[in-house]
Amino acid sequence: MASLSTDVLVIGGGATGAGVAWDAALRGFEVLLVDRADLSEGTSGRFHGLLHSGGRYVVKDPRAAEECIGENRILRHVLADCIEDTGGLFVTTPWDDPDYADRFVEGCRATGVDCEEISPAQAVGEEPRLNPEISRAFRVPDGNIDSWKTVWSMARGAQEHGGRVMTYHAAVAIHRDGDEVTGARLRDTRSGEEVDVEARVTVNAAGAWAGRVADLAGIEGVRVLPGRGIMIAMNHRLVNTVVNRCQMPTDGDIIVPIRTVSVIGTTDQHTDDPDDHTVLQAEVDAMLDDGEKLVPGFRRARALRVWTGVRPLFEDAKADSTDTRDVTRAHALLDHRERDGVSRFVTITGGKLTTFRLMAEETVDAVCRQLGEERPCATKTTQLPGSESGRHYRLGERLERKEQHLRDEQLICECEMIPRSKLEATMRRTGTMNLDDIRRLLRLGMGPCQGGFCIYRATGILHGLDGISAEDADGALLHFLQERWKGVWPILYGDQLRQARLDDWIFHGVLDVEHLPS
Ligand SMILES: Cc1cc2nc3c(=O)[nH]c(=O)nc-3n(C[C@H](O)[C@H](O)[C@H](O)COP(=O)(O)OP(=O)(O)OC[C@H]3O[C@@H](n4cnc5c(N)ncnc54)[C@H](O)[C@@H]3O)c2cc1C
Repeated sequence: MASLSTDVLVIGGGATGAGVAWDAALRGFEVLLVDRADLSEGTSGRFHGLLHSGGRYVVKDPRAAEECIGENRILRHVLADCIEDTGGLFVTTPWDDPDYADRFVEGCRATGVDCEEISPAQAVGEEPRLNPEISRAFRVPDGNIDSWKTVWSMARGAQEHGGRVMTYHAAVAIHRDGDEVTGARLRDTRSGEEVDVEARVTVNAAGAWAGRVADLAGIEGVRVLPGRGIMIAMNHRLVNTVVNRCQMPTDGDIIVPIRTVSVIGTTDQHTDDPDDHTVLQAEVDAMLDDGEKLVPGFRRARALRVWTGVRPLFEDAKADSTDTRDVTRAHALLDHRERDGVSRFVTITGGKLTTFRLMAEETVDAVCRQLGEERPCATKTTQLPGSESGRHYRLGERLERKEQHLRDEQLICECEMIPRSKLEATMRRTGTMNLDDIRRLLRLGMGPCQGGFCIYRATGILHGLDGISAEDADGALLHFLQERWKGVWPILYGDQLRQARLDDWIFHGVLDVEHLPS
């Protein structure tokens, strides 16, 4: 069996694990980041897209609010290219307790979240689709953040400092020598081959799966209570500012404008299985109704897609119920030397995507403590690859860039403006045969047609690359279509239903996709 060695092995390639890898690499550690799937295929790639100002938690969870506003300010600088500075509004709708607004203002003051009250008329003037019946409105520094770009730029940053990244490698065993963790066994989830990794310290950053990874190390009681939530993307920006209902956090109370869409979310249902991606029709209906409360006419917009993510909520002593909203959104760092007498092993879970950098900093501090080394953290001030200019992402920027070359380039995905050269270069660079991996990198097939017009072209291009058989290319096409379908069927009405019929004619009627010749 092959073997590798490293200073720090990080299990879990979401925002937290990639953040740990970036932080540790900057401190001069040799790092290996592994994920059982692609980077950001867990909760980080399935979240709502909100760079929290902290406003959502000022009354219910002040600690989480303070962490969010602190990190919000730092990320705007170090991750500028991954963030759009949309700003945010908290508004009191006729369905909200009017007394909450004063508690909200007091909470913002106590936790340091910037908040300015503006008149409802001004809010509706700025966001004309907003419910005109709102009675109060507050401006906060919310924004949106692109998690795929964020995670990949941290992985790239770690690689530039000598780090290694292994996707599609699951930790299937954690090695122990008495009271010490000495590394892990990884299994390539595509080929089945195994590799042993020897590490000075192993970090468990497996999010909602962290309890399972801790179990592999024989450590008991790491309970992560998975909270499943759904989100729905509408096909254009119904608002340009993040809009939150000014009330205790509940379902369907935030709309986040991100890229060319707006996303409403979310719900919070206890589940026993972090891989549970059930979408209930009742949840979808309730979510669309909630959208109407913030933006009247919401249901008439075209719903593109629904998806789920699972919150990694660490269960603390106070929460022995299964109401996941009552578990803290703040994170949990478990130094297993202190907690369980097992050294060279650290677990980090819980928190928010907005707080991943802080979580990573505290984790690598714990790694240093275990190794008895002092190496200061540099992620507060070091800009990630791609963010060196300090300029935030701006809607329209991609179109402007592309317009200069559109006539020279063959466009493969019109919705997301992906030219052939970029698609080919990405396929060659990553060597992946999974078109869903390409989707996460380039947004292939993420527009209104959900791949209907571009994915057979992309498959042809994949097949044209060296060494890819027709069978593999067909398999990639089918896999992509099946994955897309999961997010489309629960919201089939209006224009998206027409689109789905058209896609069905293309793929079944014309191509007979399930019986392609090999
Ligand atoms: C519905 C919903 C909406 C949210 N919205 C927001 C929001 O708007 N803003 C915000 O700040 N936060 C939001 N969050 C919270 C945020 O998304 C998560 O806290 C964050 O993404 C967790 O990141 P992570 O890296 O810890 O976990 P993950 O991203 O889940 O990463 C864990 C990784 O571990 C991998 N893994 C698991 N087991 C193994 C193994 N055995 N071997 C190797 N790899 C393994 C998984 O494949 C996964 O990629 C939301 C969460 C949910 C559920």
